[in-house]
Amino acid sequence: MSLLEVDRLESFYGASQALFGVSLAVAEGEVVALMGRNGMGKTTTIRSVLGLIRPRGGRIAFGGSEIAGMRPHRIARLGIGLVPEGRRCFPNLTVHENLVAAARKGVWTEARVTELFPRLGERRDQFASTLSGGEQQMLAVGRALMTNPRLIILDEATEGLAPVIRKDIWAAIRTLKAAGQSILVVDKTLAELLPVADRCFVLEKGTTVFEGTPQALTPELQDRYLGV
Ligand code: ATP
Repeated sequence: MSLLEVDRLESFYGASQALFGVSLAVAEGEVVALMGRNGMGKTTTIRSVLGLIRPRGGRIAFGGSEIAGMRPHRIARLGIGLVPEGRRCFPNLTVHENLVAAARKGVWTEARVTELFPRLGERRDQFASTLSGGEQQMLAVGRALMTNPRLIILDEATEGLAPVIRKDIWAAIRTLKAAGQSILVVDKTLAELLPVADRCFVLEKGTTVFEGTPQALTPELQDRYLGV
């Protein structure tokens, strides 16, 4: 059984329909890529899964429970951790305080997070506001891990970062995968995303148009759906 199962999801912004039947699934321990050009519905799908948008059609099941329509804090507590676009941390808390504020019981502790991102250990007592963009993104990943989520969702987590920092984030994603963490990733960097993904879902105009392995997403299909 899948950890996350989204079935024919329909979501709206007011009267305007954005999702017309998005289906996707993430199995336990799997890395799944959610892809599609700008405006095709990736963020809306994630916001629906997190309970930030109440879907008007379809189903969302997490760990076997129906979660569509549940409040965001309840969904988070069931074990979905988000690394949002634009790295939101508490600027006036230190790195250490940001991490412990997010902590919930589990295998991910501050020690393990700083092992994954040694830079955060070095910056332990600095305010988050004084970190570089890349360090703040590492902190955002660390905060999500500290909640010990069953599923971690990365929404454009490498967007706008310097190449060396992106490399660190991708290395961290590979480490998480090796540790058996279930991950749903939205990212535009196919060269990094495809090798780490077990399965890909592609959205077009609010509908899932492709589901398959990265190998099945041939250059022709990439060109058709992703315009690369
Ligand atoms: P991107 O890669 O640019 O983030 P996306 O695939 O995440 O794109 P969404 O942001 O989910 O796409 O957008 C899906 C559709 O919903 C688009 O047509 C977009 O214009 C519309 N949309 C997104 N946010 C809103 C909003 N707050 N109000 C109204 N329409 C919106």
